[in-house]
Amino acid sequence: MVVVNAVQMAHNFIISRLQAAKLVVDATAGNGKDTLFLAKNTPSTTVIFAFDVQPQAIANTELLVKQHQFQHKIRLILDSHANMANYIDQPVDVAMFNLGYLPGGDHTLSTCPDTTIEAINQILQLLAVGGLLTVAAYPGYEHGKRECQAVHQYLTGLRQQTFAIGSWGMVNQTNSPPVLYVIEKRRSE
Ligand code: SAM
Repeated sequence: MVVVNAVQMAHNFIISRLQAAKLVVDATAGNGKDTLFLAKNTPSTTVIFAFDVQPQAIANTELLVKQHQFQHKIRLILDSHANMANYIDQPVDVAMFNLGYLPGGDHTLSTCPDTTIEAINQILQLLAVGGLLTVAAYPGYEHGKRECQAVHQYLTGLRQQTFAIGSWGMVNQTNSPPVLYVIEKRRSE
């Protein structure tokens, strides 16, 4: 299938850029599926930073990448993505945010509008020219709706000379389907 869910669409948008990526970021490690996707589709020398605030998420991601023998590429960080600039000082080629809560985990430990916007602000500064950022947002529940609105408002305020920004979503799906934002950095600010 060509038309799939927002996260798989994010994978489709970034996969060709991953082939030459030196540094990539999974801003929300969760159960590690996106981190694993990044690991599988980047060269062996690529460094992948994966952030999460939940020890369980970091443990799940560590287990998954070890099962696939990618641990040498992954830097697992138990900290908020709002602090990512403390850990990264090189240009980022590709970054992913998959917002919301840990599947199968505590729904109250969801991403939050303030820290999400702060983290997006930081990653946009770190992004290499030509670099790609994807943000999958979930407006289907109240907290997620507020976060999606905050992301949308923030992104629509960015200069088009610096960033090319699009969004993707299903149009015939009930219950406020996920929205995927895709941001490409055109030039340094
Ligand atoms: N990418 C994951 C995967 O492939 O399984 C799914 C991510 S899940 C939808 C969202 C994750 O964001 C949760 O694991 C949650 O703990 C994490 N999270 C919430 N607030 C965060 C923050 N401030 N910094 C980093 N991660 C955060």
